[in-house]
Amino acid sequence: MGKPLIVVLGAGLGGTIASYEIKAALKDRADVMTVSDSDTYSFIPSNPWVAVRWREPEAIQVHLPPVFAKKKIGFTSVGAKRLHAGEKRLELNDGSSINYDYLVISTGPELAFDEIEGLGPHGGHTVSICQTAHASAAADAFDAFAQNPGPIVVGANYKNGKDAGSVAVAGDRELQVYEIGVGYTVAPGLTLQAQYDYFKLDSDVAASDDKGNVVLVRTVLAF
Ligand SMILES: Cc1cc2nc3c(=O)[nH]c(=O)nc-3n(C[C@H](O)[C@H](O)[C@H](O)COP(=O)(O)OP(=O)(O)OC[C@H]3O[C@@H](n4cnc5c(N)ncnc54)[C@H](O)[C@@H]3O)c2cc1C
Repeated sequence: MGKPLIVVLGAGLGGTIASYEIKAALKDRADVMTVSDSDTYSFIPSNPWVAVRWREPEAIQVHLPPVFAKKKIGFTSVGAKRLHAGEKRLELNDGSSINYDYLVISTGPELAFDEIEGLGPHGGHTVSICQTAHASAAADAFDAFAQNPGPIVVGANYKNGKDAGSVAVAGDRELQVYEIGVGYTVAPGLTLQAQYDYFKLDSDVAASDDKGNVVLVRTVLAF
C-alpha cells in the first residue's frame, strides 16, 4: 500500500500552518498536498497596516509555490470546485480531481456583503479590510477622501457583557455600552472627532446598578 495522501484545502492562516505542521509531524510517512485558489498567501491580521499605508501589500504576502516545494508539500492554486465526500474526491476548478485519504478543510469565511444593501467595497458605500486587496482599496479611498474632505461617520458600536458576579460583588451583572463616533476631516491631516458613549450596568444587587454618559472630543493630526 502506498503512502496516504493528506489534502489541505485552503492556504490561508489555517491551511498553511496545517500543511506545515502535518508534514513536519509525518515527514515521509504521508504525502501532503495543499489546494488553494491563489498563489499568494496573505497574512490577514496585518491588513489594517496596508489600509493605513504602514505596510505595502507585498510586505504581508508570500509567493507560495517555492515555499511549499522546499517543504516537499504538493501545491496547486487551481482552486476546488466541489467536494465528493462519499468518494473521498476533491474536484478542482480545471475539471481534474484529487483522491485523498484525509482532508483538512480550511477555506475561511465567505464574505457576504450583498446581504446588507450598500455594504462592501464592490459597489457598496463602505471599505473593508477583510482581504488584502480590500485594504489596498481602502487606503486609496482614504487618500481620495483626504484630498476632498467632508463629513464621515467613523463608527457605531454596541457591546454587551455578562458575568456571574465577583468575589467583591455578588449577583449576575450585565454591562451594555452604546457608542457612536463622527469625524470631520477639515483639511488633509487634520480631523476633528466626537464620540458619545452611553453605558448601563444592571446587577442582581440593586445598589450596584449604574448608568452614565461619556462625551469625547478629539483633534487628530496626521503627518
Ligand atoms: C483585519 C483582520 C485582522 C485580524 N486580526 C487577527 C488577529 O490579530 N489575531 C487572530 O487570531 N485573528 C485575526 N483575524 C482573524 C484571522 O485572520 C482569521 O481567523 C484567519 O485568517 C482564518 O484563517 P482560515 O485559514 O480559516 O481562513 P483564511 O485565512 O481566510 O484562508 C482561507 C483560504 O482558503 C482559500 N479558499 C477559499 N475557498 C477556496 C476554494 N474553493 N479552493 C481553494 N482555496 C479556497 C482562500 O482563498 C484563502 O486563502 C483577523 C482578521 C481580519 C479580517
